[in-house]
Amino acid sequence: MQTPRSFEYERATSVDHAIALLERLGPEARLVAGGHSLLPMMKLRLAAPEHLIDINPLVADLSYVRVEGNEVRIGAMTRHAELLASPIIAEHFAILTDAEKVIADPIVRNRGTIGGSICQADPSEDLSAAFAALKASVLIRSGTGERLISARDLHVGPYETAVGPAEMLTEVRIAIRAGSGSAYEKVERRVGDWAVAASGAWVQMSGDTVADAGIGLTALGVAHFCSPEAEAVLIGHAPTAEVIAAAGAAAASITNPPTDQRGPSDYKRHLADILTQRAITRAVARALGRN
Ligand SMILES: Cc1cc2nc3c(=O)[nH]c(=O)nc-3n(C[C@H](O)[C@H](O)[C@H](O)COP(=O)(O)OP(=O)(O)OC[C@H]3O[C@@H](n4cnc5c(N)ncnc54)[C@H](O)[C@@H]3O)c2cc1C
Repeated sequence: MQTPRSFEYERATSVDHAIALLERLGPEARLVAGGHSLLPMMKLRLAAPEHLIDINPLVADLSYVRVEGNEVRIGAMTRHAELLASPIIAEHFAILTDAEKVIADPIVRNRGTIGGSICQADPSEDLSAAFAALKASVLIRSGTGERLISARDLHVGPYETAVGPAEMLTEVRIAIRAGSGSAYEKVERRVGDWAVAASGAWVQMSGDTVADAGIGLTALGVAHFCSPEAEAVLIGHAPTAEVIAAAGAAAASITNPPTDQRGPSDYKRHLADILTQRAITRAVARALGRN
């Protein structure tokens, strides 16, 4: 049987309380949200925090999907299942609905949170690629205030984020932009598994031209889960088959996927190309109201 090292348990009653606990208990304290990533790591002794700060009592404050002004705001304690079921998300960001359908299984989706997922910073995590494609921002709170950073800057490396030891991610923000569409394409070995490779695309159309675009990649060894190279191929051009093929090739060219039990590196790089093309094609169709 796998058992974690012993730890002290604290229950936060507010965001301020959680941050005060992080400050008081120091870097050996960890927040626990859904626990679907952290607890398995503790059982395998890949993580051994001395204190766990349970933030589930903050669901009342930090579980929401709402429109404010021209953006959608998602609270950090929103569960995957809530994102999947959200009509606001389905209306504005189909890429997230696409992604949630293929993240894990209902048991994990009922408990795992958006904040926990992106703070885990697993290099194969799906929402990180989708938020990178959407050019989302994340709100990070500390004892001295809040800072808003690009979701692309949240990840500084595998399992490493820009969230400091006495900070907490509280919200994801995504701008609603007229004339845009998005889609997510993932290949997995079996239902509910992590990606062999996945690509997400967001495009904003101005007539027949791509005015802006975001391409997110996961499980492909790409820094910050995005491909500015593929975006540059798309922006300012009509999304013809040739342009989309060039964007797929540009995305694949920056990948550096490991050969592992999910497949050889070359196969994953090929998937990066094909999945990016498919995601762009569907995103454009959605932006133009054809899907
Ligand atoms: C069987 C299985 C299959 C899975 N398949 C997939 C998949 O296909 N695709 C995919 O993307 N993911 C997959 N996952 C991962 C799953 O989505 C995550 O485990 C889960 O959503 C993480 O969220 P959590 O709330 O459980 O985080 P936790 O495990 O509670 O926390 C994870 C980390 O984030 C930190 N943290 C949590 N909340 C915050 C916060 N608000 N601010 C700062 N730090 C915070 C914690 O301290 C910890 O370090 C799978 C997991 C399992 C168990």
